[in-house]
Amino acid sequence: MNEASVASDLAAELTTQLPELRGKLTAGAVLADFTWFRVGGPAEILYSPADEADLSYFMANTKLDIPVTIIGLGSNLLVRDGGISGVVIRLGKGFGDIKIEPESRLRAGAAVPDVKVARAAADAGIAGLSFYRGIPGCVGGALRMNGGAHGRETCEVVVEARAVDRAGKVHVLPVAELHYAYRHCGAPDDLIFTEALFQGEPGDPAAILAEMDGIAAYREQAQPIKSRTGGSTFKNPPGNKAWQLIDAAGCRGLRVGGAHVSEMHCNFLINEGAATGADIEELGETVRARVKANSGIELEWEIKRLGKPR
Ligand SMILES: Cc1cc2nc3c(=O)[nH]c(=O)nc-3n(C[C@H](O)[C@H](O)[C@H](O)COP(=O)(O)OP(=O)(O)OC[C@H]3O[C@@H](n4cnc5c(N)ncnc54)[C@H](O)[C@@H]3O)c2cc1C
Repeated sequence: MNEASVASDLAAELTTQLPELRGKLTAGAVLADFTWFRVGGPAEILYSPADEADLSYFMANTKLDIPVTIIGLGSNLLVRDGGISGVVIRLGKGFGDIKIEPESRLRAGAAVPDVKVARAAADAGIAGLSFYRGIPGCVGGALRMNGGAHGRETCEVVVEARAVDRAGKVHVLPVAELHYAYRHCGAPDDLIFTEALFQGEPGDPAAILAEMDGIAAYREQAQPIKSRTGGSTFKNPPGNKAWQLIDAAGCRGLRVGGAHVSEMHCNFLINEGAATGADIEELGETVRARVKANSGIELEWEIKRLGKPR
């Protein structure tokens, strides 16, 4: 049986199992269209839930052995060329609300881009969330990655997160239960975040907007933000900067196939246009091996690698 018919069999099975589903199921959606690197094979099934209740219905009524993978805006993802088996979930409009709450709080759906969180906070005179101006993901990705920049991290500004587990149960987790560390969230892997409540402090909208402009200007000159990239490839090891270790190992500009190590910021890998997922992953592993040989330090991938090789 070929892959396409397996995908459509799963689509048919899900459609039968889920008569009340309101979200959309698409067989064989190309994931390269949803990642910043612009690489990645198909999702066996791509599911776009209508809202949290629809997502919960899906999770409660599908067999637990069907693998489920959640993606955000794909700015921290390397999807392999063979694609992802099972169901890939991407949240859309039904998770896109922003609400300003009393005492400098902001509630945002998991599909809201971080930059919109920063803008809405600025407009409402809420300071402390402007660092999100520079992170090109959405709220769900920020919650899972503990996204941070310019001296602040998600764990410092989140009060609580809502999430749906693999059995369809909705949870509200206070920040302590998210078990955050540097670019890491220790909440159970099966949780799909649906919403976050953020805490800021009162601020002057014009001053916050000026700070955001400063962040945008800094990014333009320091990072290849207009390229096909996944941002920082490796976590900074304790006491070290990943980019300095990569530079010292002579990897700036290093190439594999259609991928290279950015000349501008050497912890960024770039797809020049025709790179495959395999090129980018091999480049990353070559960098890790050279850094290990040069410094004895093992770099840990910050980018999440998903799926199977071709
Ligand atoms: C140019 C550039 C600059 C960047 N700069 C920064 C930076 O300064 N600081 C920083 O921290 N990161 C940075 N990144 C990396 C990236 O933007 C962040 O990690 C971001 O938080 C990822 O969000 P996303 O929506 O794109 O998630 P994705 O990349 O789609 O997914 C990342 C992880 O989050 C999980 N996930 C996504 N949505 C959900 C959800 N709803 N529930 C549960 N899990 C979910 C995925 O399964 C995956 O494990 C940069 C990336 C680029 C391309």
